[in-house]
Parts: sequence; structure tokens; C-alpha cells
Amino acid sequence: MQISFDLDSTLIPHGNEFEAEKSNFLAKILGVEPIRVGAAKLIFDLQKDGHTIHIYTTSFRNKIKIRLMLFYYGIKVEKIITQSQNQKTLRSRNINASKYPPAFGFDLHIDDLKGVEMEGQKLNFKTIIVEPNDENWIEKVKKEISN
Ligand SMILES: [Mg+2]
Repeated sequence: MQISFDLDSTLIPHGNEFEAEKSNFLAKILGVEPIRVGAAKLIFDLQKDGHTIHIYTTSFRNKIKIRLMLFYYGIKVEKIITQSQNQKTLRSRNINASKYPPAFGFDLHIDDLKGVEMEGQKLNFKTIIVEPNDENWIEKVKKEISN
């Protein structure tokens, strides 16, 4: 499956909303953002199971910075869609939503926002919603993917 992950409050904590992997001095110098505990392992496991992993964010971060950040944690993803491309693509297709994963070929999108889940119900795309305070989020994601 083509699976996309949101960044903010899904993989990257806002403040201390969830525990992050430890990072070293080099990470701080490079401006590598913290990543949720277990995220790297989850992504490796999904890739090992044959899934292709992408990033789909409505932030305007620089793609190279996102790749560098993921690379620091040993993560490689296929596509990275940021807000500039998202807006352009959705506007050109006349889609009135914050996210529309099928426009980028994604079968399933993982996000923290209930609003994205509602868009999915309305526009017919699959989501898994993970709360920032859900300590069993990895099990939840794996279970819903295998269903
Ligand atoms: Mg988010």
C-alpha cells in the first residue's frame, strides 16, 4: 500500500505532547526536529511488509530539510508533499479540503486531525487518526493496516 504520514503532532511533537527519540549534539546543529518515539521502527516495519511510505504535510517546511531530518533517524520515504504542492494540486482539481491523499496516489493517510478523517468520509479516502496522547498508536496503526 502507498501510505502517507502527516508530520506535525503525528510524527513531530508540538512542544512535549509526546515522547521523542533522543537526538545528539549534531542533530541540534543541523536543526533536525525531534521525532516521535517508535516512529522510525514503525516505518521500517511497514516498509519491510512491502508498503511504500510518504510524507504528506500542510506545513511549508523545506523538502530537503524534511529529508535530512528523516535521514538522521535512518528513515527513507518516497514522496514528500508539502503545503505549496498540496494547495496547487488541490486547487487545480477543484477539491475543497485540507488534504486529499488520492491526488498523490496515496491509499491511506495517517494524521492526528479528526477533520482529516471527516474529509476522508466525505471524499472517500482512507485515514487512520492517531491522537498525540495515544501511547498505543503503533499497535493501532499496525492493526488497522492489517485489517
Ligand atoms: Mg498534524
